[in-house]
Amino acid sequence: ARQERLRSGGGPGRTSDGHQVALYANIGRAKDLIDDVEGVGLFRTELLYLDRSDAPSYDEQVAAYTAVFAALPGRKVVLRTLDAGADKPLPFLQQADEPNPALGVRGLRISWRRPDVLETQLKAVAEAARSASAEVWVMAPMVATPQEAATFVAACRAAGLPTAGAMVEIPAAALRAGALLEEVDFLSIGTNDLSQYTFASDRQVGELAELLDPWQPALLSLIAMCASAGKAAGKPVGVCGEAAADPGLAVVLTGLGITSLSMSPRSIPAVREALAGHTLEDCQRLAAAALAAETAELARQAVLTPVT
Ligand code: PEP
Ligand code: MG
Repeated sequence: ARQERLRSGGGPGRTSDGHQVALYANIGRAKDLIDDVEGVGLFRTELLYLDRSDAPSYDEQVAAYTAVFAALPGRKVVLRTLDAGADKPLPFLQQADEPNPALGVRGLRISWRRPDVLETQLKAVAEAARSASAEVWVMAPMVATPQEAATFVAACRAAGLPTAGAMVEIPAAALRAGALLEEVDFLSIGTNDLSQYTFASDRQVGELAELLDPWQPALLSLIAMCASAGKAAGKPVGVCGEAAADPGLAVVLTGLGITSLSMSPRSIPAVREALAGHTLEDCQRLAAAALAAETAELARQAVLTPVT
Protein backbone atom coordinates (compact mmCIF):
# COMPACT_ATOMS: atom_id res chain seq x y z
CA ALA A 1 0.00 0.00 0.00
CA ARG A 2 2.91 2.27 0.83
CA GLN A 3 4.44 1.77 -2.62
CA GLU A 4 1.00 2.32 -4.18
CA ARG A 5 0.51 5.67 -2.43
CA LEU A 6 4.00 6.71 -3.37
CA ARG A 7 3.23 6.05 -7.03
CA SER A 8 -0.04 7.96 -6.99
CA GLY A 9 0.35 11.02 -4.78
CA GLY A 10 4.04 11.32 -4.10
CA GLY A 11 7.07 10.93 -6.25
CA PRO A 12 9.73 13.49 -6.88
CA GLY A 13 9.01 17.19 -7.00
CA ARG A 14 9.25 18.74 -10.44
CA THR A 15 8.50 21.98 -12.24
CA SER A 16 5.83 21.99 -14.95
CA ASP A 17 8.57 21.49 -17.56
CA GLY A 18 10.07 18.51 -15.75
CA HIS A 19 13.03 19.96 -13.81
CA GLN A 20 13.36 17.70 -10.76
CA VAL A 21 13.80 18.97 -7.22
CA ALA A 22 13.81 16.28 -4.55
CA LEU A 23 11.27 16.87 -1.77
CA TYR A 24 12.43 15.34 1.48
CA ALA A 25 11.14 15.18 5.05
CA ASN A 26 12.73 16.59 8.20
CA ILE A 27 12.33 14.06 11.01
CA GLY A 28 13.56 13.34 14.53
CA ARG A 29 12.54 9.69 14.74
CA ALA A 30 10.94 6.93 12.66
CA LYS A 31 7.47 7.82 14.00
CA ASP A 32 7.66 11.26 12.32
CA LEU A 33 7.35 9.56 8.92
CA ILE A 34 3.61 10.19 8.70
CA ASP A 35 3.46 10.05 4.93
CA ASP A 36 5.24 8.38 2.12
CA VAL A 37 8.20 10.49 1.28
CA GLU A 38 10.84 10.50 -1.39
CA GLY A 39 13.41 10.44 1.36
CA VAL A 40 14.62 12.20 4.48
CA GLY A 41 16.70 15.34 4.00
CA LEU A 42 17.30 16.02 7.69
CA PHE A 43 17.28 13.38 10.41
CA ARG A 44 17.90 15.42 13.57
CA THR A 45 19.52 12.69 15.66
CA GLU A 46 19.96 14.87 18.76
CA LEU A 47 16.18 14.93 19.22
CA LEU A 48 16.36 11.26 20.23
CA TYR A 49 18.50 12.10 23.22
CA LEU A 50 17.35 15.47 24.58
CA ASP A 51 16.39 14.11 27.98
CA ARG A 52 19.43 11.88 28.50
CA SER A 53 21.96 12.44 31.25
CA ASP A 54 24.23 9.70 29.86
CA ALA A 55 25.39 9.28 26.28
CA PRO A 56 23.39 6.75 24.22
CA SER A 57 25.29 3.51 23.72
CA TYR A 58 26.47 2.21 20.37
CA ASP A 59 23.81 -0.53 20.37
CA GLU A 60 21.04 1.89 21.26
CA GLN A 61 22.05 4.16 18.40
CA VAL A 62 22.26 1.29 15.91
CA ALA A 63 18.67 0.35 16.84
CA ALA A 64 17.32 3.90 16.53
CA TYR A 65 18.97 4.56 13.17
CA THR A 66 18.03 1.14 11.80
CA ALA A 67 14.37 1.88 12.59
CA VAL A 68 14.50 4.95 10.32
CA PHE A 69 16.57 3.39 7.53
CA ALA A 70 14.39 0.28 7.42
CA ALA A 71 11.30 2.44 6.90
CA LEU A 72 12.83 3.91 3.73
CA PRO A 73 14.07 1.00 1.62
CA GLY A 74 16.15 2.18 -1.31
CA ARG A 75 15.52 5.83 -0.46
CA LYS A 76 17.80 8.63 0.63
CA VAL A 77 18.28 9.45 4.30
CA VAL A 78 20.49 12.41 5.22
CA LEU A 79 21.45 11.92 8.84
CA ARG A 80 22.80 14.83 10.82
CA THR A 81 25.28 14.02 13.55
CA LEU A 82 24.40 15.28 17.02
CA ASP A 83 23.69 19.01 17.01
CA ALA A 84 23.97 19.74 20.72
CA GLY A 85 23.87 23.16 22.31
CA ALA A 86 21.88 26.41 22.45
CA ASP A 87 18.26 25.61 21.50
CA LYS A 88 18.97 21.83 21.55
CA PRO A 89 20.94 21.14 24.75
CA LEU A 90 22.00 17.55 25.37
CA PRO A 91 22.61 17.04 29.10
CA PHE A 92 25.42 14.52 28.50
CA LEU A 93 27.28 17.02 26.31
CA GLN A 94 26.51 20.12 28.34
CA GLN A 95 29.24 22.72 28.22
CA ALA A 96 30.35 24.71 31.23
CA ASP A 97 28.55 28.04 31.53
CA GLU A 98 28.85 30.01 28.33
CA PRO A 99 27.73 33.63 28.05
CA ASN A 100 26.36 33.02 24.52
CA PRO A 101 25.50 29.34 23.98
CA ALA A 102 24.45 29.94 20.36
CA LEU A 103 28.00 31.19 19.72
CA GLY A 104 29.66 28.63 21.94
CA VAL A 105 30.99 25.10 21.74
CA ARG A 106 28.06 23.47 19.99
CA GLY A 107 27.27 21.20 17.03
CA LEU A 108 30.37 19.86 15.29
CA ARG A 109 32.56 21.95 17.61
CA ILE A 110 31.85 19.54 20.44
CA SER A 111 33.52 16.79 18.41
CA TRP A 112 36.93 18.39 18.79
CA ARG A 113 36.58 17.95 22.58
CA ARG A 114 34.68 14.67 22.54
CA PRO A 115 35.88 12.80 19.45
CA ASP A 116 34.67 9.58 21.05
CA VAL A 117 31.04 10.73 20.78
CA LEU A 118 31.30 11.46 17.04
CA GLU A 119 33.21 8.25 16.40
CA THR A 120 30.65 6.09 18.21
CA GLN A 121 27.81 7.76 16.37
CA LEU A 122 29.41 7.36 12.94
CA LYS A 123 30.16 3.69 13.62
CA ALA A 124 26.55 3.15 14.70
CA VAL A 125 25.27 4.88 11.56
CA ALA A 126 27.52 2.74 9.37
CA GLU A 127 26.35 -0.44 11.08
CA ALA A 128 22.67 0.55 10.72
CA ALA A 129 23.27 1.46 7.07
CA ARG A 130 24.74 -2.00 6.47
CA SER A 131 21.70 -3.77 7.89
CA ALA A 132 19.05 -1.67 6.10
CA SER A 133 18.85 -0.75 2.43
CA ALA A 134 18.38 3.04 2.62
CA GLU A 135 20.91 5.24 0.87
CA VAL A 136 22.55 6.91 3.86
CA TRP A 137 24.33 10.26 3.68
CA VAL A 138 25.74 11.98 6.77
CA MET A 139 26.28 15.65 7.47
CA ALA A 140 27.69 17.80 10.23
CA PRO A 141 25.88 20.73 11.86
CA MET A 142 27.47 24.15 12.46
CA VAL A 143 30.40 23.87 10.07
CA ALA A 144 32.36 27.14 9.89
CA THR A 145 35.45 26.34 7.79
CA PRO A 146 36.59 23.99 5.01
CA GLN A 147 39.17 22.55 7.45
CA GLU A 148 36.40 21.51 9.85
CA ALA A 149 34.51 19.96 6.96
CA ALA A 150 37.61 18.04 5.83
CA THR A 151 38.14 16.61 9.32
CA PHE A 152 34.50 15.53 9.48
CA VAL A 153 34.63 13.91 6.04
CA ALA A 154 37.77 12.00 7.03
CA ALA A 155 36.01 10.70 10.17
CA CYS A 156 33.03 9.59 8.06
CA ARG A 157 35.20 7.76 5.54
CA ALA A 158 37.14 6.09 8.37
CA ALA A 159 33.83 4.82 9.78
CA GLY A 160 32.85 3.38 6.40
CA LEU A 161 30.41 6.11 5.37
CA PRO A 162 31.20 7.14 1.81
CA THR A 163 28.95 10.20 1.38
CA ALA A 164 29.54 13.11 3.74
CA GLY A 165 28.41 16.71 3.69
CA ALA A 166 28.27 19.94 5.63
CA MET A 167 25.39 22.08 6.75
CA VAL A 168 25.62 25.73 5.84
CA GLU A 169 24.33 27.55 8.91
CA ILE A 170 27.13 30.03 9.48
CA PRO A 171 27.66 32.91 7.02
CA ALA A 172 31.40 32.07 6.80
CA ALA A 173 30.46 28.69 5.32
CA ALA A 174 28.23 30.29 2.67
CA LEU A 175 30.91 32.83 1.77
CA ARG A 176 33.36 29.98 1.19
CA ALA A 177 30.89 27.47 -0.29
CA GLY A 178 33.23 26.68 -3.18
CA ALA A 179 36.13 25.78 -0.88
CA LEU A 180 33.76 23.76 1.31
CA LEU A 181 32.59 21.81 -1.74
CA GLU A 182 36.18 20.79 -2.47
CA GLU A 183 36.03 18.83 0.80
CA VAL A 184 32.46 17.50 0.94
CA ASP A 185 30.09 15.59 -1.32
CA PHE A 186 27.12 17.90 -0.74
CA LEU A 187 25.87 20.94 1.18
CA SER A 188 22.61 21.39 3.04
CA ILE A 189 21.60 24.91 4.01
CA GLY A 190 19.97 25.26 7.43
CA THR A 191 18.13 28.52 6.98
CA ASN A 192 16.97 28.71 10.61
CA ASP A 193 20.49 29.12 11.93
CA LEU A 194 21.79 30.85 8.81
CA SER A 195 19.16 33.58 9.43
CA GLN A 196 20.05 33.75 13.10
CA TYR A 197 23.76 34.25 12.43
CA THR A 198 23.38 36.49 9.39
CA PHE A 199 21.04 38.90 11.16
CA ALA A 200 22.56 38.54 14.65
CA SER A 201 19.03 37.70 15.79
CA ASP A 202 18.30 34.94 18.28
CA ARG A 203 15.96 32.49 16.53
CA GLN A 204 14.10 31.99 19.80
CA VAL A 205 13.17 35.66 20.21
CA GLY A 206 9.79 36.23 18.58
CA GLU A 207 10.24 39.99 18.64
CA LEU A 208 12.96 39.62 15.99
CA ALA A 209 10.69 37.81 13.52
CA GLU A 210 11.06 40.52 10.89
CA LEU A 211 14.83 40.13 10.74
CA LEU A 212 14.50 36.36 10.81
CA ASP A 213 12.07 36.38 7.87
CA PRO A 214 13.44 33.82 5.37
CA TRP A 215 12.49 36.17 2.51
CA GLN A 216 15.22 38.59 3.60
CA PRO A 217 17.21 39.34 0.44
CA ALA A 218 20.54 39.06 2.33
CA LEU A 219 19.67 35.48 3.27
CA LEU A 220 18.67 34.77 -0.33
CA SER A 221 22.06 36.16 -1.48
CA LEU A 222 23.93 33.70 0.73
CA ILE A 223 21.75 30.84 -0.54
CA ALA A 224 22.40 31.94 -4.12
CA MET A 225 26.16 31.83 -3.49
CA CYS A 226 25.90 28.25 -2.23
CA ALA A 227 23.72 27.17 -5.15
CA SER A 228 26.12 28.66 -7.71
CA ALA A 229 29.07 26.99 -6.02
CA GLY A 230 27.18 23.69 -6.14
CA LYS A 231 26.46 24.09 -9.83
CA ALA A 232 30.14 24.89 -10.52
CA ALA A 233 31.26 21.85 -8.53
CA GLY A 234 28.55 19.56 -9.89
CA LYS A 235 27.48 18.66 -6.35
CA PRO A 236 24.05 18.78 -4.68
CA VAL A 237 23.10 21.78 -2.54
CA GLY A 238 19.83 21.42 -0.65
CA VAL A 239 17.87 23.52 1.82
CA CYS A 240 16.60 21.88 5.00
CA GLY A 241 15.53 24.87 7.11
CA GLU A 242 11.96 26.13 7.50
CA ALA A 243 12.33 28.30 4.38
CA ALA A 244 11.96 25.16 2.25
CA ALA A 245 8.41 24.66 3.56
CA ASP A 246 7.14 27.98 2.17
CA PRO A 247 5.68 27.25 -1.30
CA GLY A 248 6.62 30.68 -2.68
CA LEU A 249 10.16 30.39 -1.38
CA ALA A 250 10.43 26.85 -2.70
CA VAL A 251 9.90 28.32 -6.17
CA VAL A 252 12.60 30.93 -5.51
CA LEU A 253 15.06 28.35 -4.14
CA THR A 254 14.49 26.18 -7.20
CA GLY A 255 15.18 29.19 -9.40
CA LEU A 256 18.42 29.82 -7.53
CA GLY A 257 19.55 26.28 -8.38
CA ILE A 258 18.88 24.45 -5.10
CA THR A 259 18.65 20.71 -5.83
CA SER A 260 16.53 19.45 -2.91
CA LEU A 261 14.09 20.87 -0.37
CA SER A 262 13.59 19.21 3.00
CA MET A 263 10.76 20.16 5.31
CA SER A 264 8.23 18.95 7.82
CA PRO A 265 6.37 16.09 6.07
CA ARG A 266 3.02 17.87 6.18
CA SER A 267 4.39 20.78 4.13
CA ILE A 268 5.44 18.62 1.17
CA PRO A 269 2.12 18.54 -0.79
CA ALA A 270 1.80 22.35 -1.00
CA VAL A 271 5.43 22.70 -2.08
CA ARG A 272 4.99 19.99 -4.71
CA GLU A 273 1.95 21.84 -6.06
CA ALA A 274 3.77 25.19 -6.19
CA LEU A 275 6.66 23.70 -8.18
CA ALA A 276 4.29 21.95 -10.56
CA GLY A 277 2.70 25.34 -11.33
CA HIS A 278 5.92 26.93 -12.63
CA THR A 279 8.48 26.26 -15.33
CA LEU A 280 12.15 26.35 -14.37
CA GLU A 281 12.41 29.63 -16.27
CA ASP A 282 9.52 31.07 -14.17
CA CYS A 283 11.39 29.99 -11.05
CA GLN A 284 14.59 31.66 -12.27
CA ARG A 285 12.79 34.90 -13.13
CA LEU A 286 11.04 35.00 -9.73
CA ALA A 287 14.31 34.19 -7.95
CA ALA A 288 16.01 37.12 -9.69
CA ALA A 289 13.12 39.41 -8.67
CA ALA A 290 13.32 38.29 -5.02
CA LEU A 291 17.10 38.74 -4.95
CA ALA A 292 16.78 42.25 -6.37
CA ALA A 293 14.14 43.33 -3.83
CA GLU A 294 15.08 45.78 -1.10
CA THR A 295 13.11 44.17 1.72
CA ALA A 296 11.68 40.80 2.66
CA GLU A 297 8.18 42.13 2.14
CA LEU A 298 8.99 43.40 -1.37
CA ALA A 299 10.66 40.08 -2.21
CA ARG A 300 7.52 38.25 -1.14
CA GLN A 301 5.32 40.59 -3.17
CA ALA A 302 7.53 40.24 -6.23
CA VAL A 303 7.00 36.50 -6.18
CA LEU A 304 3.46 36.14 -4.90
CA THR A 305 1.67 38.99 -6.68
CA PRO A 306 0.21 37.68 -9.91
CA VAL A 307 1.31 39.62 -13.00
CA THR A 308 -1.77 41.21 -14.59
C1 PEP B 1 18.56 24.99 10.61
O1 PEP B 1 19.30 25.55 11.41
O2 PEP B 1 17.98 25.57 9.67
C2 PEP B 1 18.32 23.54 10.68
C3 PEP B 1 17.74 22.89 9.70
O3 PEP B 1 18.68 22.91 11.82
P1 PEP B 1 17.94 23.13 13.22
O4 PEP B 1 16.66 23.87 12.95
O5 PEP B 1 17.74 21.78 13.77
O6 PEP B 1 18.95 23.94 13.98
MG1 MG C 1 20.57 24.48 12.77
